[in-house]
Formats: sequence, structure tokens, C-alpha cells
Amino acid sequence: MTESPKVLVVGAGPVGLVTGIELLRRGVAVRLVDRSERPNPHSKAIALWPRGIEALARYGAAEELHRRGVVLRAQNYHSQGRRVARLAFGGLRRTRYPYALSIPQRETEGVLRDVFLGLGGAIEFGTSLTGFTQDGNGVEAALETGDGPRTERFDWLVGCDGAHSTVRDILGVPFRGSSYPQQFLLTDGPVRTSLAHDEVHYFMSPAGILVVVGLPGGLYRTFVSVAPGRSWEDAREAVQQAASERCPVPIELVGEQQTGVFRVHRKTADRFRSGRVLLAGDAAHIHSPAGGQGLNTGIEDAASLAWRLAGVCEGRYGDRVLDQWEAERLGVARAVVGDTDRQTRMWMMSGWRARARDAVLGAGERSGALNRVVVPRQAQLSFAYPAPRERAGRLRAGMRLPDVPLGGRWLRDELSSAAPLLLLFPGTGKHRKEVGGVAERFRKAHEDVRVVVVPDAADKAHALLGVKRPCAVLVRPDGAVAALRDPFDDELTAALPALAETATGGR
Ligand SMILES: Cc1cc2nc3c(=O)[nH]c(=O)nc-3n(C[C@H](O)[C@H](O)[C@H](O)COP(=O)(O)OP(=O)(O)OC[C@H]3O[C@@H](n4cnc5c(N)ncnc54)[C@H](O)[C@@H]3O)c2cc1C
Repeated sequence: MTESPKVLVVGAGPVGLVTGIELLRRGVAVRLVDRSERPNPHSKAIALWPRGIEALARYGAAEELHRRGVVLRAQNYHSQGRRVARLAFGGLRRTRYPYALSIPQRETEGVLRDVFLGLGGAIEFGTSLTGFTQDGNGVEAALETGDGPRTERFDWLVGCDGAHSTVRDILGVPFRGSSYPQQFLLTDGPVRTSLAHDEVHYFMSPAGILVVVGLPGGLYRTFVSVAPGRSWEDAREAVQQAASERCPVPIELVGEQQTGVFRVHRKTADRFRSGRVLLAGDAAHIHSPAGGQGLNTGIEDAASLAWRLAGVCEGRYGDRVLDQWEAERLGVARAVVGDTDRQTRMWMMSGWRARARDAVLGAGERSGALNRVVVPRQAQLSFAYPAPRERAGRLRAGMRLPDVPLGGRWLRDELSSAAPLLLLFPGTGKHRKEVGGVAERFRKAHEDVRVVVVPDAADKAHALLGVKRPCAVLVRPDGAVAALRDPFDDELTAALPALAETATGGR
């Protein structure tokens, strides 16, 4: 890299890597540091949901992730020796990934590191951020490297330094919330059991939760809670004992197991932006691993930040777009913390509460509500940002751009160029020519926007999206629909790129 870095990214976990990739893809020089001497060999996250896979697919990582992962097709809730509900992922619509991918976090990070390095980035392991000050023009960062301390200046600093964030601490930003009283133990390794390997199994009992999930290579993650005050000596033995007590089907841990012990918290930073310093991922919000949301949410924080930050670095956007990012992602983080908290508390219920929970879950499965509402939310596909009330067919401002087949490709493949996207729908064949003319004029006027004419109403994409009238749809580089307009209104069409700035906060 010849240019001196404009952005310091602290932390080379998944969120720091995605931030670095998304900035490099837009030509912004990045310095990525991590205080560890080498990549983390442990695996926390295993579930990658469709929206997370889609985010990483924009730079071609999906194939390698699938090669290293295994597909999970359903989630089962058991209580009192019987299955009370089953959530099937196959019903997820308008995505080419209607499932969760089980892939150890170290593998996801490995794929992301390769993408980052392939873009010309460098990761400085063994370098810690120890302090910083900021003024109106930049950030002065104190870094502790293998060769001693150094002070360097950057335009922006992004803290992706995890739950115990140094960046957040130095800013003095409150990290509000609480911790669950239970301890959690996990083992990753071979298991003898008849439980389906390509599904998630939750066994809820008054003694605590047991979760069993298939991992690549025929292995399983077995994960249990330990009641407050209960002691244990050997993590593997404690997991085995809890599994035997809580699961009606035999489960036997066999062979080598990687063990982990952790506490679970629900906390959100009061602010994700403080001047020229931003917080993303676990540095900004942490939650229970229920539903596998943390890494997925962090990836989306990074993706929705980086295109805006790149625009600010290039002088295309004013820095208020970063406040809009903060408002959007604070809303999502609070919602995810709430969802995962409800699920974690649901795991731990006993007595009449547990009976009521089981009845509600059963009714939710029978009515289809679990598959219709809960699964798309867990897959993060139904998350939408508040935006003006504009819609056409199934498309509305603020939502994630659905993925549908488009003449041998997929609609969301059009996002791989890192640019904002203008989709032009002719509605019916009779407007095809006029819409083609709009596309040509727009391409000439706005070279930085990718313009795609969706084939006319006979095409599958029109039918699946229900767009019947001519429509111009502006899509942000992170795949969120920014605006829907009349394509023949010259003034509005000319204004479309600026609309990338107008989406406003929350979920
Ligand atoms: C048991 C468990 C299971 C989970 N399962 C899932 C799941 O299935 N799906 C899911 O989406 N999420 C899951 N999560 C959550 C997920 O692991 C986290 O959300 C994710 O790791 C957050 O990534 P991050 O990059 O923000 O932070 P981290 O992964 O914590 O990375 C932070 C990096 O910053 C570095 N760093 C820290 N301080 C400094 C400093 N001062 N200077 C330089 N570098 C620094 C650290 O060395 C580290 O490499 C799980 C978590 C746990 C504990």
C-alpha cells in the first residue's frame, strides 16, 4: 500500500476484518492491528445466517465458507422429554441461502483474512492500541508494537476490539446492561448420538439448557448452562453429565473435545460514534449466543459503516451519514439484545412458565408463526431500517434487497461491485424502451452508480418481487433499499445518488 492509512481498525476479529475489506474494496487505505500474536484458534460463533452469508458473498467468500461449513436445516425445541416445536429454515424465501451455515469462527476469520490480504491489506498481529486523542481533523493513536510504542495519526478510528473494548473504555462510553448468573460450558468434538447432525437441538429443563449442533467434519458442539452456585471440576465431564440428564436420547462425548467456559451478558454501548471514533461488533453490543446473532450482527455493522465511511473519506458524503449509521445500528443492536434475552430467559423457565412456554411454542409451530416470523428474524432477513413509506410490490424502502433469480444470475449479485445500485423495473414490456433510455442517461450522469434494468414483467424477478409498475429502486452498497421512485421523473432520478444519505435510524 503506497498511500498512508486513513483509517485505523483496531481488532482483527470478524468485524475488524469485514471493516477492513469493505474499506479496501473502496480504495480507502487501512491499518488493521490486533493485540494477539496470532489468529484466535478458538471457536466462539458457529452459526452464519443468510444475511451474514450474503454480506460476505459480495466479495466472493460464499463458496469457500460453504466448503468449510455444513448446512443446518432446522431448529428443534424439546421440553419434558418431548419435542414441543420445530422451526424449519427451508421456508426462508427470497434468499439463495435458505439455511444456517455451521462454520467455526476461526474458519470464517480464515476466509476473511484471505480476502483482506488478497486486496492488498496487511494484518499487524502483536500490536495493541493503548490510547488515543482526537481533534476535529483526526485521531492520534498510541500503539504498542513488538518494536516498542509508537504514535500515529489517522483520519478515523474504528474500534472492533471486542467485548472488553479498549476503544470504548478510553472514550468512556457507558456499556449498559447486565450479566446472566449462569455459567456456560461447551465442547466441540465427536459425539455418539442419533440426533440429526444437520439440525439444532435445544433441550430445555428446569436444571438448565442443553444445545446440540452439528459442526463440519461430523463433529458436534454440545453446550450447557450450569446453575448459579453449582460447581464443576472438569468441563468435559460436566457437559457429559448435563447432556445425559437433560436429553432423552443418548449422547456420548467420544474422542478429543475442545472445551470452553464463559459467562453471557446483555449490554449495549450508549453511543457507536464519538467524533472520529466508531464502535462496531462486540465492542458496541454483546448478547447471549442464543440464536447465534453476535458475529452476524457485527458483520452487518461493519458493512453498513464502511461504504459510508469511505464516502466521507472521499468527500462524497458529509459526516452526518455516520450519525445515521449509528442510529440504524443502535436500533438493530437493541432489538437483537432483546430477542436473544427473551430466548435465553425462555431456556431457563420452570413450573407453570415452562408449561406455558411449551404451549406457546407448539401453537407457534402449528399456526406457522414460528416459520413465518421467528425464522426470518433470526436469519436477520426481515430486519429493516426505518425509512420513508415508499413501496412497489414486495419492495419497500429500508428493507434488505431480496435475492431472486435474474436471467441466469441472482439479483443480489449486482451488489458485488461495491457501488450503489439503481434497479430499473419497466413494469410491462411497453415501457421497456423508455426505461432503457433512462438507464443510459443515468449511467452517463452517474458513473459511480451501477445501473441494472430488470427484464420486463414476464421475468421471474418481477413476479417474485411483485413489481408491476415502472419503478426506480436505489439500493445502498450494503444491500438495503434506500428509495423507490418513478423512473420517468428526471429530477428525482438525478437526485437518486443523494438518497443514499437519507435512510434514517433504528430497525
Ligand atoms: C460460545 C459462543 C458462541 C457464539 N456463537 C455465535 C454464533 O453462532 N453466531 C454468531 O453470530 N455469534 C456467536 N457468538 C458471538 C461472536 O463470537 C461474537 O459476536 C464475535 O466474535 C464478535 O466479533 P468482533 O470482531 O466484534 O470481536 P472479537 O471476535 O472479540 O475480536 C476482537 C479482536 O480485537 C482484538 N483486540 C482487543 N483489544 C485490542 C487492543 N487494545 N488493540 C488491538 N487489538 C485488540 C482481540 O485480540 C480480538 O482479536 C458466540 C459467542 C460465544 C461466546
